[in-house]
Amino acid sequence: MPNVYNWQLGRAMAYPYEEAHPKSQFAFVFNINRCIACQTCTMACKSTWTFSRGQEYMYWNNVETKPFGGYPHNWDVKILDMLNKANPDGQRWGAGGEVGPESPYGQFNGKSIFEAAEKYYGEAEGAKRVLGYLPTQEEWTTAPNIHEETAVGDLFEGGKQFGGSAQLPTHKVWFFYLQRLCNHCTYPGCLAACPRGAIYKRPEDGIVLIDQNRCNGYRKCVEACPYKKAMYRTTTRTSEKCVGCYPRVEGKDPELSPNGEPLETRCMAVCPGRIRMQGLVAIDEQGHWVADRWNPLYYMIRERQIALPLYPQFGTEPNGYYIPPRWVPRAYLKQMFGPGVEHAIEQYSCPDRDLLAVLQLFRTTQQIIFRYEVVKGPKVAEIEVTMPDGSGKTQEIYNDTVIGYNKFNIECVRVTVEEPTFERPAELHVNSI
Ligand code: SF4
Ligand code: SF4
Repeated sequence: MPNVYNWQLGRAMAYPYEEAHPKSQFAFVFNINRCIACQTCTMACKSTWTFSRGQEYMYWNNVETKPFGGYPHNWDVKILDMLNKANPDGQRWGAGGEVGPESPYGQFNGKSIFEAAEKYYGEAEGAKRVLGYLPTQEEWTTAPNIHEETAVGDLFEGGKQFGGSAQLPTHKVWFFYLQRLCNHCTYPGCLAACPRGAIYKRPEDGIVLIDQNRCNGYRKCVEACPYKKAMYRTTTRTSEKCVGCYPRVEGKDPELSPNGEPLETRCMAVCPGRIRMQGLVAIDEQGHWVADRWNPLYYMIRERQIALPLYPQFGTEPNGYYIPPRWVPRAYLKQMFGPGVEHAIEQYSCPDRDLLAVLQLFRTTQQIIFRYEVVKGPKVAEIEVTMPDGSGKTQEIYNDTVIGYNKFNIECVRVTVEEPTFERPAELHVNSI
């Protein structure tokens, strides 16, 4: 297999195809701390793309409760188990790795799903390019939200409900919501496994699509996607997956983008919890992210590392990034998001002026923000914050104005850090009480 460079693993990695990179990459940041599991995103996607016969069980976007559940059921537990067998020394990070701009988390010393395939399957099952499994029908058809909002931990420790404590840095009783869709991976498992060459990554935006005319329904992509985001449709006998709402990203919505302004996907645009921000990041010919401090995604992911990839150890270099939840035991989070967890949570616990500014942009416009700027405002508050290590810190809040610009460098949003208040006039209104 050729070698490709995976910056999330901090090293080169075996992959069935040579490196080839798009001009820009569809990517997104989800702030787990803010999700209320309303499933508005799930239904926005379902009512747009998967409302037809044969798609009944398909949720290209879903929000599941962790640590239980998942859709299909236990998808991550199963692939992690397989990966553990292929990595008898553990899935270790760090030793031997150089931490730098191109490998901010150090080096992953275990085997990715591509490197583990040969050892795991052996000769008996024939050559396989990717470690994976096909979920059973029950795993797909049990309700997608099975075990929703089931907490773990000792509910009655010391005779008191919730162990008598619900204090940061981590809670004794906990769960959290994980928002999931196709990660439009840099090195997709689905694409690597397809024997028909039916899956491709668009050169303009890195969106991963299945060519429905070439697909023969072998379900190799369903087996190989470690996130289980490729799905089989019995009525057409082909596989389908999230299409990244590509007509919106292309600016083809005649009503919302009359001048061709790229829009965020449906699941991003509807989020009432304001946890989601999607973007397009520029990629150079070597496959590196082009440094751009004023692209909101570049700033959060690469410069500040406040948002982390989901299961980077799988090796697909997923392009979905998460601000991890503050209250969850760190060992669990580190398995899920890699070694950058402490750093990300520490920054999020007491965001400085620059971070607070960029965080204001979440869900303020349907247009994709390509650049933003900050106009400095006066200091309006000082807040005492307890940091994850128990120490105290003073957060200074400035009422800065944050301005977002679209692809054509035209202002598409303007917000202030301090939410403006409006006093209603004294006269009666229809909805007055
Ligand atoms: S719409 Fe937003 S807040 Fe609601 S479940 Fe989806 S990600 Fe969470
Ligand atoms: S998340 Fe799965 S379906 Fe999406 S690109 Fe990655 S491997 Fe393919």
